[in-house]
Amino acid sequence: MGFRPAVYRLACQRGLSGFVCNDTKGVTIELQGPQERIADFLDVLQSGKITPAAQIESCTSSDTAGIESESEFVIRPSDYEGTALSEVTADMAVCRDCLREVLTQGDFRFRYPFINCTNCGPRYSIVRTIPYDRPNTTMSVFQMCQTCAAQYDDVFDRRFHAQPVACQTCGPKLTLTDNRGKTIESDTDKAIHKTARMLLKGKTVAIKGIGGFHLAVDALNNEAVLRLRQRKKRDHKPFAMMTDSVDKVKKYALVTEEAEKLLKTVQSPIVLLPMRSDSPIAPAVAAGVKTYGFMLCYAPLHYLLFDCGLEVLVMTSGNLSDEPLICDNNKALERLGDVVDAFLMHDRDIYRQVDDSIVHFIDDEPALLRRARGYVPTPLRLPEACTSDIFAAGSDLKNTFCLVKSNQLICSEHIGDLEDAEAYHHYLNSIEHLKQLFEVQPEVIVCDSHPAYFSTQNALAIDSVRTIQVQHHWAHIASVLAEHNYTEPVIGLACDGTGYGTDGKIWGCECMIASMQGFERFGHLAYYMLPGANKASKEAIRPVLGLLRAAYGDDLDQRDFAWLLDPIEPDETKRRVIWQQLDRKINTTETSSLGRLFDAVAAMLGLGTYNNFEAQLPMALEAIAEEKIEQGYKIELNTSANEPLLLDVRNMVKQMIADIRNSVPAAVVSAKFHNGLCCGLVQMVQKASEKTDLNTIALSGGVFCNRYLTNRLIKRLRDNNFKVLFNRLFPSNDGAISVGQAAIAADVVARGL
Ligand code: ZN
Ligand code: ZN
Ligand code: FE
Repeated sequence: MGFRPAVYRLACQRGLSGFVCNDTKGVTIELQGPQERIADFLDVLQSGKITPAAQIESCTSSDTAGIESESEFVIRPSDYEGTALSEVTADMAVCRDCLREVLTQGDFRFRYPFINCTNCGPRYSIVRTIPYDRPNTTMSVFQMCQTCAAQYDDVFDRRFHAQPVACQTCGPKLTLTDNRGKTIESDTDKAIHKTARMLLKGKTVAIKGIGGFHLAVDALNNEAVLRLRQRKKRDHKPFAMMTDSVDKVKKYALVTEEAEKLLKTVQSPIVLLPMRSDSPIAPAVAAGVKTYGFMLCYAPLHYLLFDCGLEVLVMTSGNLSDEPLICDNNKALERLGDVVDAFLMHDRDIYRQVDDSIVHFIDDEPALLRRARGYVPTPLRLPEACTSDIFAAGSDLKNTFCLVKSNQLICSEHIGDLEDAEAYHHYLNSIEHLKQLFEVQPEVIVCDSHPAYFSTQNALAIDSVRTIQVQHHWAHIASVLAEHNYTEPVIGLACDGTGYGTDGKIWGCECMIASMQGFERFGHLAYYMLPGANKASKEAIRPVLGLLRAAYGDDLDQRDFAWLLDPIEPDETKRRVIWQQLDRKINTTETSSLGRLFDAVAAMLGLGTYNNFEAQLPMALEAIAEEKIEQGYKIELNTSANEPLLLDVRNMVKQMIADIRNSVPAAVVSAKFHNGLCCGLVQMVQKASEKTDLNTIALSGGVFCNRYLTNRLIKRLRDNNFKVLFNRLFPSNDGAISVGQAAIAADVVARGL
């Protein structure tokens, strides 16, 4: 990120000779010259302020004897021992210098929406292959003008070797078209003004950005937002928003100091923030939740649009329902023509589609919920270099995959749900592209143990020296260990939707004694019957009936609960069919899924009956939970001599149903459910600790995206003197499964097994 040129400038200014180069360990600098000037160099270097975008993790120096004396300072070609790992960096939000230039009348790049420098601009999204040079990016079609070329070649310029450098004369241009692709305006600046005017009138515009298209609409105009929802076939999921300053965000949401810092980072993610009660944001933007997702402008184009008088925009991914993000102009016209009124497009191709990343706060610290733009492909450093390249296939939901080369673990951007044919196709293409980009030739393949996962089936079909299958929840826990570089055994608590268990059942709430080397199942949510396999994760009536049966026994007459079941599934015949399924155990699995328990509770409270998107019902249940309530329903721990330990929720379900019958407010029932669960989990952890003497707890799994539960659980565990490790750099949902898989495989390789 412009680090070597910055080092070069620093050395030249002090009259030092030597060299700087990148290698697999980071950056190596050799300095020759008077002691005090070298000391001064090191001071400035370690102040961490030599480039805005680069962060120095650690810096060590030593005296070197017997080297040849050199007369000048040079930037040496990178030495990667035959690989090119750290060449490609993540996309960066526009820097302050470029932003000032683009808004300053008379500047060479005044109002040019593709301004960038070594400290900012697109990287990962435009790179086709390595080395990372302009001809290998989608900027290759633009011939630099003299001014741009001079800056590109001048080591003392901020644009020295900035591969995407461009200006209005030589670089990409904007076009505004109607929804059929007919040009409305081809002058870049006029196109921006016209787009802003359309947005202010409530029109929907597809805007091409860094990693793909956004669908933009005025976030204060409810009618316009509803129209977008209808056309996009996205009825429920909250939309993300964008504005151009933190002060504006503060009008709509509560922004802590930490959140403000995060909004302003070069990664520029969507940050989930508590709504202000008096917020004028259109209700249709985020119904059924208590948070807004906000990001600040990050492309110069965004700032120029807002400069034309915009206040706040919905900026949601340019796709239809759950399909992959669209980044290609023709495809956008083809797929989004019926969704939008106009397209604001440019002719700089996006090679890798990267969604906006999403971050929220757990225990007052940031935690990634979706890792993509800005964070990918920044690698996670492994404790040791791996002697074999590894490919980790990930999970089928919220898929990411990983590549391991040397001591670097590279996790792909969020790919999506592989059940979607387009997403699966994108998955296969991305694997090939990233393997080629990072010159990885996997000898070891690692995947989930679920035989029906597409990712597993694909992985098993790959020719390799060796294939490893990893249990889903062990991979969850291993992802936490990997990011904290923790090598000792822990008590792992995986609270999740579903994952394939070693006994062939569907696991979901698991307490395990785990390390990178293996795991032992210590306890879990007592199994209950879940009818209807694939439909069970969508239709809440299924887990409701399974749990009713678990709580009241097989002889129960479900008609006695018509008052509770009618609103969830009015079709009595359908209920009877499902009940018979349970009787005869047809298409019915035993499960310890916690996610489905959340679905059931939400449905019983009348918060919905169907998950239109993953975790819709659990999110609704979390959103209504009353913060001030401390009591909880009692969960029993079943300590029969036969391990594992069981969390028994039967009485809890009964208490809850009694409360609902007695019209206890839903907000109270939800809180008591969360608190009871929290208490049960702490007790299970305590038992595990008594048995093993371990006091470090690793938490992972999709249920921990729930802030109400997770914040309380972490606090409780800490109050009981446990040390808690949690996913921060990678999502606690299935987005981190590939990370856990890769780390486990790297450990296998390191141990020479
Ligand atoms: Zn810049
Ligand atoms: Zn130029
Ligand atoms: Fe999972």
